[in-house]
Amino acid sequence: MKILDGKKTSLDIQDELGTKVKKLLEKGLKAPHLAAVLVGDNGASRTYVNAKVKACERVGFKSTLHQLDADITQEKLLSVVNQLNNDDAIDGFIVQLPLPDHIDEDQITLSINPKKDVDGFHPENVGKMTLGLPSFLPATPNGIMELLKRYNIPTEGKNTVVIGRSNIVGTPVSILMSRKSNPGNSTVTLAHSRTKNLKEICLNADILIVAIGIPEFVSADMVKHNAVVIDVGIHRVEDSSKKSGFKLLGDVKFDEVSKKSSSITPVPGGVGPMTIASLLMNTYLACNEKNK
Ligand code: NAD
Repeated sequence: MKILDGKKTSLDIQDELGTKVKKLLEKGLKAPHLAAVLVGDNGASRTYVNAKVKACERVGFKSTLHQLDADITQEKLLSVVNQLNNDDAIDGFIVQLPLPDHIDEDQITLSINPKKDVDGFHPENVGKMTLGLPSFLPATPNGIMELLKRYNIPTEGKNTVVIGRSNIVGTPVSILMSRKSNPGNSTVTLAHSRTKNLKEICLNADILIVAIGIPEFVSADMVKHNAVVIDVGIHRVEDSSKKSGFKLLGDVKFDEVSKKSSSITPVPGGVGPMTIASLLMNTYLACNEKNK
C-alpha cells in the first residue's frame, strides 16, 4: 500500500512556485498577491485561512487577510468583494466558506470577478471547466487531480466512484475525472444521499473519492481490493490526549481501508495540503494572465 502524500507533494509544488516567483521578480515583475476574506470566528475556517496565508509567505506571494465581523451585512460584504475586484494590486482572492447564515453565499460567489476567482467557484469558471476550456479549477478537486498525476495513478478506463455531490468537491471532481484528459478518461459514478446500494457501487470502484462529510463513513467492506482511495473529509474530533484538544479524522476508516487499498490519502496530510497548493497555482495563473 502506498500513501499518497499530499503534504510532501504540496511542498514540492510550493517550491516550484517559489522558483517561478523569483524569476518574476528578476524580470522586474511583482509577486502574485492573494487576498483572503474571513467572516466571523469559525475555528476551522480560521485554521484554513491561516494555512493559506502561511503558504503564500512560504512561496514569496503577497497576501492580505480581511477579517470581518460575523454580523457584517450582505451589503458591506459585497462592497468588500467589489473593492477586491477593482484593486489592481490583488491578483486573486477567496471568500472563505461557510459564511454566516444571514449571508446569501450564492450572491457573494456571483459577485466575484471570475478573473480573480482563484477558488474556481464562479459559474463562469465552473462552466468553462465543464467544457474543458482554460479556467480556474476548483481548489480541492484540482488538488486531487494533481496528486493523481504526480503519483502516476492510471485513471483511463477505470471505474471511479465519487461519494458526495457538493458544488465545491463531489460534482466538480466527477466532471474532471470523466473529462478527456490525463488524469481523467474515467467512467464515473456520482453517489449521493439518495443513492441506493452504495456499498455495491463502491465495491465496483477502482478509484474511490470520498467527500461525504461523515467521519469514518467508509469501512473496509465497502472497498475493492487494490482500490485507490482519496479521502476528502476533514473532521475535528475531541481528543483530550492531544495538546490541541482534538484530532483530525477523514471520511474513511484509514486503519482498515489502508490494508485493502493499493494507495490512499491520509488525513491529515492528504487532500487538505493539496487544496492549498492548488489555490496557490491558481493565484500564480491569475498573476501571469495580468502580466501577458
Ligand atoms: P457536503 O456536506 O456539502 O456534501 C456531502 C455530500 O454527501 C452531499 O452531496 C450528500 O448528498 C452526500 N451524502 C450525504 N449522506 C450520504 C449517504 N448516506 N450516502 C451517499 N452520499 C451521501 O460536503 P463537502 O463540502 O463536499 O465536504 C465533504 C467533506 O470534505 C467534509 O468533511 C469537508 O470538511 C471536507 N472538505 C475538505 C476539503 C479539503 O481541502 N480537504 C475541502 C472541502 C471539503
